[in-house]
Amino acid sequence: MIAQKIQDVADSENVAVLGFGPASALAEEPPGHRPDDLLPGARSLICFGIPVPMGVYRPFPFTIETVWRSQALSYRRLDTLSLRFAALLEDEGAQAVPVFGCMPMTLNGRGQVAGYLNQLRMGESVGIGTIGRNGLLIHSRYGARLMLGGVVTTAELPALRMPDIDQPGCPPDCRICVDACPIQAISAEKKRVGIMRCLNYTARTPLMSKIKFAVLRATRPQSAARLMNMMAFDEHTLHICSRCVSLCPYGGKQ
Ligand code: SF4
Ligand code: SF4
Repeated sequence: MIAQKIQDVADSENVAVLGFGPASALAEEPPGHRPDDLLPGARSLICFGIPVPMGVYRPFPFTIETVWRSQALSYRRLDTLSLRFAALLEDEGAQAVPVFGCMPMTLNGRGQVAGYLNQLRMGESVGIGTIGRNGLLIHSRYGARLMLGGVVTTAELPALRMPDIDQPGCPPDCRICVDACPIQAISAEKKRVGIMRCLNYTARTPLMSKIKFAVLRATRPQSAARLMNMMAFDEHTLHICSRCVSLCPYGGKQ
């Protein structure tokens, strides 16, 4: 059975968190960003996560570089697994599209950076976490340190949440991430980060001309998105801030 084959691969690759759920859970996402837009006839979502070790975020002179390297390696691992799951599903006669960790990104109607399918909502819908006040998927064992991969498929998969533990979300009185953000980019009530505000502060993209990006963003958004995907994602961006992740106490002590 295909669901078992995917679980077996996840086990053998030490995937910490895995969930299956119905694609219809994301049917209310903005037009163009729904599972059916990616894969007509989509029936199921697979979302999985691997945690970045807590020690990566500990303050020392090379924390920023260590986070950068850890995230780049994790994205490669996640994306490779998404491809492997998609290939397994196709071997069984289904169609499947991988949803990569951090690309390709698009610019939405407001010129904001957005994924083509919201992985955080995928993770929440399959039950492997809850969106926290920091706008990230938080997991009761791994906190905000999970990085995600995913697949959309036409296969009918049974509901699965592994490990099968409750995800109650942020404690009612916690506002650590909100207060720690140096530019007040986190809206606790909306559980959302002002993405452009955050990126303008935190992202260092030495290979991408910000002037060229700004001109293209205003005139040819598709070209701007392609420039961004090629020159400013994955290991091409260094983030100087990850306080909303590193200071989140959820899921373990720092
Ligand atoms: S990464 Fe830094 S700047 Fe961006 S939302 Fe988190 S705390 Fe704020
Ligand atoms: S720091 Fe507190 S409020 Fe912010 S995401 Fe973590 S648990 Fe939630």
